[in-house]
Amino acid sequence: MTYHIEPIPRSLMAAFVAAHHYAVRVPPHCLLSLGCFAGSDLVGVASWGYGVRPRHTIQRLFPSLTTSDYYELNRLCMLDSEPRNGESHFLRLCREYISEREPGRVVLFSWADGMRGNATKDWKPCLHLTERILTLPIAPSVRERIEGDVKSLRDNINAAQCFFCKRNSADGAAAVVVNMYGDVSETRTLSGTKVSWRQVPVRVPRCPLCKAAHRRASGWPWAGGGIGAVAGLMVGAAVGAAGGAAGKSSDSVCCGVFVGVVVLGAIGLAVGSAVGRSQLPAGVAPADRASGYSAVKELEGQGWHVGGKPPGVS
Ligand SMILES: [Zn+2]
Repeated sequence: MTYHIEPIPRSLMAAFVAAHHYAVRVPPHCLLSLGCFAGSDLVGVASWGYGVRPRHTIQRLFPSLTTSDYYELNRLCMLDSEPRNGESHFLRLCREYISEREPGRVVLFSWADGMRGNATKDWKPCLHLTERILTLPIAPSVRERIEGDVKSLRDNINAAQCFFCKRNSADGAAAVVVNMYGDVSETRTLSGTKVSWRQVPVRVPRCPLCKAAHRRASGWPWAGGGIGAVAGLMVGAAVGAAGGAAGKSSDSVCCGVFVGVVVLGAIGLAVGSAVGRSQLPAGVAPADRASGYSAVKELEGQGWHVGGKPPGVS
């Protein structure tokens, strides 16, 4: 596979990380976001910038250098579908890109991810242990790193646990996908205005039990709506027949039937939804709460919207 890289908006990098990286969030000091493309598909993102205490970091390695002399790789995220050596290819392209355009950045470095728990993904004991370290008398610089770890561990726990019952482990195959769009731009063309946007699927963690419960509940609104519509048809027909007998025009009879179907159908839909919700086991949030997931909220805060495309675009 041949890759090429391009600078991308920070919001797109953040959206990609939210959708595909276990740490969900991106660190605040991102100065350069690079996207890795296979053809026109975005398959990876890298965020270059600084970690905590940038000057301290670089001067511990190279006392004569300062912050403008280096970049830290603070997120690297690539689709699992890419070949195993994809990351190395991507990093080589980043190195070439930066040395060509920003030759002053003489040091590029990344922390090998030594986060406790990466092998087992058993984050809760890790969080417990890490929080205990914070109770010890430690140097402020170490404390800052550990506090960052605690935040990442909390994010990991969020991503590993079902968002709907907050009890069971999430299963990738049961996730709810919330599509989001953003980065909307308009370009003028000869035939009018062309709107373009980017789309990112956010996977909301869910367990198989909640998935099954949601599936059972999802039939109720349709059943309710159907029953309501049939009832509306029957009431409308009865009223219509009475109206016909009383000499009303056929138009007003049809209109009565239509209003009956719509009104009773809508009432049936609402009642069905309520019944569906009441069928969910205790402590299980309904599926439409997925848009309250932290990564969705975070992207909304950055100007992204839930949905497949901007409104009014065909
Ligand atoms: Zn669950």
